[in-house]
Amino acid sequence: MGERDGIMLRAYEVENGLRCGCICPACRRPLVAANQGEKRLPYFRHAELEGCSGGRSEGIRRAAVQLIAQHQRLQLPSFAERVSIFLKSGRSVIRDAGFDAVSIVPDKVERFVDLDDLRAHARLSLQGHNLIVRIKCSSRQEHERKRRLQAMDVSSIEIDLHRLSDADINDETVFQHAVLDNPLNRTWIRSLKGEALVARAYVELEPEAARLNAEWQQAETERIETAALAAARPSEQQRERIEALVLHHEAQRALARATGRGGEGIEHTRTQREALIVSTMFQAVREWDGLGAECSGCRLVSPPGSRFCHYCASDTAQLRERRYSPDLERTIDQVKRCWSTPDESLLWARQLIFLPDMG
Ligand SMILES: [Zn+2]
Ligand SMILES: [Zn+2]
Repeated sequence: MGERDGIMLRAYEVENGLRCGCICPACRRPLVAANQGEKRLPYFRHAELEGCSGGRSEGIRRAAVQLIAQHQRLQLPSFAERVSIFLKSGRSVIRDAGFDAVSIVPDKVERFVDLDDLRAHARLSLQGHNLIVRIKCSSRQEHERKRRLQAMDVSSIEIDLHRLSDADINDETVFQHAVLDNPLNRTWIRSLKGEALVARAYVELEPEAARLNAEWQQAETERIETAALAAARPSEQQRERIEALVLHHEAQRALARATGRGGEGIEHTRTQREALIVSTMFQAVREWDGLGAECSGCRLVSPPGSRFCHYCASDTAQLRERRYSPDLERTIDQVKRCWSTPDESLLWARQLIFLPDMG
């Protein structure tokens, strides 16, 4: 593009050669129009051998801004942002905030406005609101400029024209569509309207998230309580054991009455209790092939295979199968020498329901 009297012109729109009267929009030096060739698109080159690197970009940018000012319209990009709030359940609530692409007719178009240390390629005004337009004409990323624009309290868009070919630029219709009407080559750098929609979406979502969190909390509390109740309730097995134990204690008492070997109400001395324990150990050797079930409470030995202790009233005692040596008669005095078993027996089972047969 060449500039003449502040107007951007294509090479085929002007006279050939230096007579075009155009200057480079970047370096302001004279241009030569080459529009007589048949194999190439018409183009400008610098009159001096030494060209400049910014001429093409600056030409496209100025031509684009000129179009916006001439036509007084501009397509704005759509805006879409997904707003989500994480819930305690691990899920999230989601709302889409945004608006469609729309073509605006600005009240005013200002070209190349300096804002602090940044140049707006165009500044559009519409109903008291400003819109900054940046035209991107090279592949260079403009992170820093965008960051500065995002920090400004004004909406801004970037129109990306850097992919246009020379043929696209020379074609007035294609170029005009690219600058004014193509919603796909422009993006919001900052959209105040979009930000307001996002903020509103959060305001709308928060009560919903709070409600869902409360519901989840309620359900979770109920779930934990139900689980705790289930854990506290005795299982079928436990119930069966308790019932069996009650029956067992009744049988012990019946047997005690029938045989006159009841132990309830009788306080044993250590020696007496020791004698009872030893007698059941001998019984195991004598009658049960050296096997017996020792009670972890009273320490007396019940017949092997017993489910509950035959003698005490403990409902938590466990029976442990043990083997008793045929030598017991010979070794028992050795065993008794420092034996804590009778003391433990008195501690865990002060009285017995049923007493072993002492012969
Ligand atoms: Zn130049
Ligand atoms: Zn016992």
